[in-house]
Amino acid sequence: MTSILPGIHLLRLPGPFPNTDSADVNAYLIRGEGGWLLVDTGWGTDRAFAALERQLDETGVGFEQIRQIVVTHFHPDHYGLAGRLKELSGASVALHQVEKDFINARYVSMDNLLGEMSDWLRLNGVPEEELPALRGASLGMRQYVAPVLPEIALQGGETISHGSFKFQVMWTPGHSPGHVCLYESERRILLSGDHLLPITFPNVGLHPQSGKEPLKDYLRSLRNIEQLEIDLVLPAHEHVFTNARQRVEEVRQHHQERKAAIVDVLRQGWQTAYEVSSRIPWIVYGVTLSFQELLPLDKRLAVISALAHLEALCQEGEAEKSARDGVRVYGATKAS
Ligand SMILES: [Zn+2]
Ligand SMILES: [Zn+2]
Repeated sequence: MTSILPGIHLLRLPGPFPNTDSADVNAYLIRGEGGWLLVDTGWGTDRAFAALERQLDETGVGFEQIRQIVVTHFHPDHYGLAGRLKELSGASVALHQVEKDFINARYVSMDNLLGEMSDWLRLNGVPEEELPALRGASLGMRQYVAPVLPEIALQGGETISHGSFKFQVMWTPGHSPGHVCLYESERRILLSGDHLLPITFPNVGLHPQSGKEPLKDYLRSLRNIEQLEIDLVLPAHEHVFTNARQRVEEVRQHHQERKAAIVDVLRQGWQTAYEVSSRIPWIVYGVTLSFQELLPLDKRLAVISALAHLEALCQEGEAEKSARDGVRVYGATKAS
């Protein structure tokens, strides 16, 4: 537990993977008048739970004093403990409307989503022999989530008043369709979730739950953040940082470079998103790897990320798409 500002504690919650802190999560515990607000919950593992319990203890806060839980987005590292904490605290759970509507399909009855994902990967060129591994890659994540249906559906634009804090809810789709950031204008702080991180570039992928133009959404959400007066960013991973505008610029640059690398690959001829992703390097937790070296889940993230960039390139007139034997293929336009 670290005190960030008066009334705001950072709780460091470990990830499920041994020997690495790369999936560790920062949750924020914020003091109010009648209780505490928790932003993000960590993975739904006993290890994360024990770490949370210990740090609450250090702060002198009992579970029953948590009045509200805001989940920045529905990924298991943020939403994982929501059900367990709700049971212990009786706190209300808030998530953006778009993601609230996906909770059931994502974590409770998942057959439809698996089928959709399978069709999606096949359409985008994943070979039959790789399909089962890539389709099922996120199933393991289910064990890290205690689902609960949030009773508060955030829309973006509302204010969460909590003690002396007034958090403006900002809908920042892109990394996920209902991602939210919380902005406190008086203290000039932004709780950025996974939208803006100091070291890694959040994955932005096109898939059945992503919305139609996730990269465009993401860049627009970044522009919205850029307008704010921010002294301190409190991200859900890595470390607290100050230079929000510079970081936004680096992230934008990164996506420009990815698009340029993809256009280069497309000049070799028409190809699927899978083929494109197998011809460009990937950075996983700071390490550059070839597609062939990736684990199945990271391969899937690579394909959907390539796809998000390909679709953006089509929108911008740099690429075009067509169909070949039932799969979608992309090519460079003459202008590019
Ligand atoms: Zn995430
Ligand atoms: Zn995350």
